[in-house]
Amino acid sequence: MLALFDLDNTLIDRQGGLDAWAGAFARSRGLPDQAAALVTARLRDRAYPEDFDYLRDVLRLADGAEDLWREYIDGLTRSVCCFPGVLEGLQGLRREGWTLGIATNGAVDIQRAKLDVTGLTGLFDGVTISEGVGARKPERALFDAAAAACGVPLSAGGWLVGDNPATDIVGAQAAGLRTAWVAGGREWADGPREPDLIVSSAAEAIAMLRRLTR
Ligand SMILES: [Mg+2]
Repeated sequence: MLALFDLDNTLIDRQGGLDAWAGAFARSRGLPDQAAALVTARLRDRAYPEDFDYLRDVLRLADGAEDLWREYIDGLTRSVCCFPGVLEGLQGLRREGWTLGIATNGAVDIQRAKLDVTGLTGLFDGVTISEGVGARKPERALFDAAAAACGVPLSAGGWLVGDNPATDIVGAQAAGLRTAWVAGGREWADGPREPDLIVSSAAEAIAMLRRLTR
């Protein structure tokens, strides 16, 4: 059975890593706390090199935007880690014969770097990143590409585990997948069809998927 996973704030704590990096970055430039808040607000959902054109202008930084992007990749990859139980759970799914894929929106270099540094890369049969395939969740083309990267057709079905209602859950439902929503205490209010599973963490979703196949 195929299980696709969102990356940021599903398998890894991107938000915690971003907050830590933005604070350290602001201090390194002698900027006030409001600057760290501005950085996290700009990069909250997604970060691309052009975001650093904007940030260097509003923060009046002397650095080049490309240098800032590299600094961000290096810093964020040092700051992020998997949520508890994720690595062990994924290893269990693999042992039990599941086919595992990453389906993430973002820039290829930063997403690849985060997968490598957190030890996730080797656990997946396929890694699909929106920038690399020219399609983004919730588009069906992204889910199609993610299944194909794992060597299986999307039409064979499977699961998507993710935290974003619109891009992950509604998108995966439309693509014919079953869904596990990492809700973090939120109520479902994002569409007529509820996720198949509503869980507090990816580790909980993985445990439920493993039970389904025993
Ligand atoms: Mg996410």
